[in-house]
Amino acid sequence: MTYLGAHMSSAGGFYKMGRAALAVGANTLQCFVRNPRGARAKAVDPEDLGRLRALLAEEGFGPIVAHAPYIMNPCSKDPGIRALAAEMMAGDLALMEHLPGNYYNFHPGSHTGQGVEAGCRQIADMLSRVVTPELGTVVLLETMAGKGSEIGGSFRELRAILDMAQCPPDRLGVCLDTCHVSDAGYDITGDLDGVLEDFDRTVGLERLRAVHVNDSMNPPGARKDRHARIGAGTIGTEALLRLIAHPALAGRPFLLETPTDDAGHGEEIALLRALL
Ligand code: FE
Ligand code: FE
Ligand code: ZN
Repeated sequence: MTYLGAHMSSAGGFYKMGRAALAVGANTLQCFVRNPRGARAKAVDPEDLGRLRALLAEEGFGPIVAHAPYIMNPCSKDPGIRALAAEMMAGDLALMEHLPGNYYNFHPGSHTGQGVEAGCRQIADMLSRVVTPELGTVVLLETMAGKGSEIGGSFRELRAILDMAQCPPDRLGVCLDTCHVSDAGYDITGDLDGVLEDFDRTVGLERLRAVHVNDSMNPPGARKDRHARIGAGTIGTEALLRLIAHPALAGRPFLLETPTDDAGHGEEIALLRALL
């Protein structure tokens, strides 16, 4: 069973999003778990989350991924922004208790001039406080392109954070983003096995719990983070298929974050399933 899905909007409700995922042939999905801020934003309805939970179980979905807000930065030099990051994550994880057994993925953040070591320490400190043993959710650090002062552009930085965080090891993992790792300089097109071996040595493949499947608009090592549609970038469909079908990654949810809408994601899911 290959779990394939895409990032979808939860703005119209969580159950409705689940139906939309089914309609595009997905058996996993990714979404934001909070409603956007602003005057018209309604509080998240736990009953709606419950209906989504029942639908996912009925339809045999694999684990799903909630994505933290992009503005979250647990390693900003501004202590107020760091405090807000912890507050956001704690709030999102409280909502995720209505969808137990799934993942919560976040961007490690940008150290904004403090240096990689200080940044990794601050990220680990937040995780130590927020990721408690009784959580029903596994929290994932996303591999990043390494643009600007972004942390997570190397497997070693992720290892450092995982080592420093005082959390149960089974509550913390990694989500590998194909566009980001390629932009960070890992050659997944030419040497996928080598990259996965590097990941295994540095972090451990058992920590790799979810995958973002994106092509990249830029060549390996560009440190840009511009996603391309499947087959329309520098990674290529073949390399992405090899990754999805790789025996070392069996059972993980594979999620598209390509620049298109639900219908476009449906076409990409159908294409990948046909080629698998
Ligand atoms: Fe992301
Ligand atoms: Fe991603
Ligand atoms: Zn990205």
